[in-house]
Amino acid sequence: MQFCFPNGLTKALTLSYDDGRSTDRELVDFFNALGLKATFHLNSGCLGREEYVYTDEAPFLYAGHEIACHTVSHPHLTRLPESEMLWEIFGDKGQLERLIGQPVRGFSYPYGEVSEGAAQAVRLSGLEYARTVNGTGRFSWPEDFLRWDPTCHHSQLTDELVERFLSLPDHEMCPILFVWGHSADFDRDGNREEVLARYAQLAGQPDIWYATNIQLKDYLQAIRSLAVTADGSLAYNPSATTVWVMSGGEPTALEPGSFTRI
Ligand SMILES: [Zn+2]
Repeated sequence: MQFCFPNGLTKALTLSYDDGRSTDRELVDFFNALGLKATFHLNSGCLGREEYVYTDEAPFLYAGHEIACHTVSHPHLTRLPESEMLWEIFGDKGQLERLIGQPVRGFSYPYGEVSEGAAQAVRLSGLEYARTVNGTGRFSWPEDFLRWDPTCHHSQLTDELVERFLSLPDHEMCPILFVWGHSADFDRDGNREEVLARYAQLAGQPDIWYATNIQLKDYLQAIRSLAVTADGSLAYNPSATTVWVMSGGEPTALEPGSFTRI
């Protein structure tokens, strides 16, 4: 079975920015102008401090994107007792939910520090995915959503990588370009123009799905949960997400809760 992204799109781009710094404002404006979608991982205890986004501003600033957790105070998680680790993660989820009025479902590890305990605390907090900082240089799907390795940091988004992604043939199985960063790094690294020019190149492509991290996670999980007959002719979609497959050369929707001949 050949899958595709919603409406027959063949590739996905997702972006992920950490820390909720005031420099996000300019970046969000840029993403909105280009139709790019991102996830913003916030430390609820840092919002409102100098050089951070204001608490009340966050729901409006990030509207149309995803707000996700990054702990309350940005500690080195792996050095904390388990109870404190859990408080940092679950507490952040609770505070961000009070702010936006809906479930917050994603996470990214502060300093990229992952451990078995940290991954477990993420899971026990009811969070569904956690992004690492381990760039793979590939367009693959995550094996483990609690250790979701991105393709690269934005400083590693080279022309070659952009070109390689844009020129992938349609029959590749739903490649994902997943870029992460901090908006405050642009000034430090002096690469704002360069990185934004590459994002502009990736925007407005007719074959790319622009998705937040959680939209992508929901979609990949829905694909993985499909029940298909052994001869591949009938699929049942038990999820709440419409899944798209190529059938007879056409993108075909497998509606939630339905059986579809393919
Ligand atoms: Zn961070």
